[in-house]
Amino acid sequence: MKIEDLGYNEFFEKRRIENKLGDAEIGRVVAEHKERYIVKTPDGEFEAEITGNLRFSAARREDYPAVGDWVALNVYDADFAIIHAILPRLSVISRQAVGKFGEQQIIAANVDYAFILQAIDRDFNINRIERYMTICYSSKVNPIIVLTKTDLIPPDQLQEKVEYIRQRIKNIPVVTISNETKEGYESLINIIEKGKTYCMLGSSGVGKSSLANNLSGKSLMKTDTISDSTGKGRHVTSHRELLVLDNGGILIDNPGMREVGVVDATDGAAQVFDEISKFSMNCKFHDCTHTSEIGCAVLEALEKGEINNSAYENYLKIVKEKAFFETSVLEKKKKDKIFGRMLKEYHKKDIKGTRS
Ligand code: GDP
Ligand code: ZN
Repeated sequence: MKIEDLGYNEFFEKRRIENKLGDAEIGRVVAEHKERYIVKTPDGEFEAEITGNLRFSAARREDYPAVGDWVALNVYDADFAIIHAILPRLSVISRQAVGKFGEQQIIAANVDYAFILQAIDRDFNINRIERYMTICYSSKVNPIIVLTKTDLIPPDQLQEKVEYIRQRIKNIPVVTISNETKEGYESLINIIEKGKTYCMLGSSGVGKSSLANNLSGKSLMKTDTISDSTGKGRHVTSHRELLVLDNGGILIDNPGMREVGVVDATDGAAQVFDEISKFSMNCKFHDCTHTSEIGCAVLEALEKGEINNSAYENYLKIVKEKAFFETSVLEKKKKDKIFGRMLKEYHKKDIKGTRS
């Protein structure tokens, strides 16, 4: 196995050189449990801890390694290594740390794509998809929508729902699969790129475990053996949270990921898009941004108190995140300015008391 097979690329190589980690061995964190880590390198897998130095300088949760991180380590013997640096992250999926208000807990680092899973039968909810999309955008992760359980609805209904999603959510791949019949698996496997890292987002019961099991084939079942011909690898029994799939893609599936978006999906934010899009049908302009336009039905509804203020602000934030993700750096700056002005306008209105 080469380090590229674990997802290493020029981005991280550049960071390694910038951080003067010339001689260190580089590995990827494949599991984490209470500040103990399993790190995979081309030589095998190692149980690892962080150096005292790293621990002392760690001010926040995100200063600790997470699954998916690239770390510099010193290997001491066949079964033990010390992590002394974390390479800068390309992307971070995090959530509010339990019991620690304001602190973020990193669920996974350096994820390229997130499969947003949703079962097509019951529980199908486009707002929730969009909510997960915003998590992706703010995490710098590319979303791919995966509709599961296609075996449970008739093909024409499936087609209808897919059309509906494609109409509302543009420029994002939509794949439909059945974990039962494996229908759609070919298309899904085709879009998985070698050396890219994937994760799964979605409510409980949508088929994440089934998909992970199916994609990884035997690798999930296989008990870990000495993983390398050099014999440096060690028999570790803990559950792997980062897997290299048969087709070369890398899948992160860890328990924390299951909690991502759960809070958001239940706090009412999921309703936001639905309400706004309902009102927006009556906006005067087809391309209304619902921020300052004359004849904007959304702003009208806001004034009448038919749309909740914080829901609206949340909507603007989501739109902003989406726009940010989709535009180049240069465009970003311009948009930020315009958006800032829009927000100012909006708040000015607020002060004048035109809204309840
Ligand atoms: P998770 O909670 O997202 O990991 O979902 P699971 O993979 O555990 O699936 C939940 C339940 O749905 C299980 O009983 C699965 O057998 C079932 N399931 C998952 N995917 C499909 C599918 O594509 N079709 C059907 N009919 N059942 C599925
Ligand atoms: Zn409008």
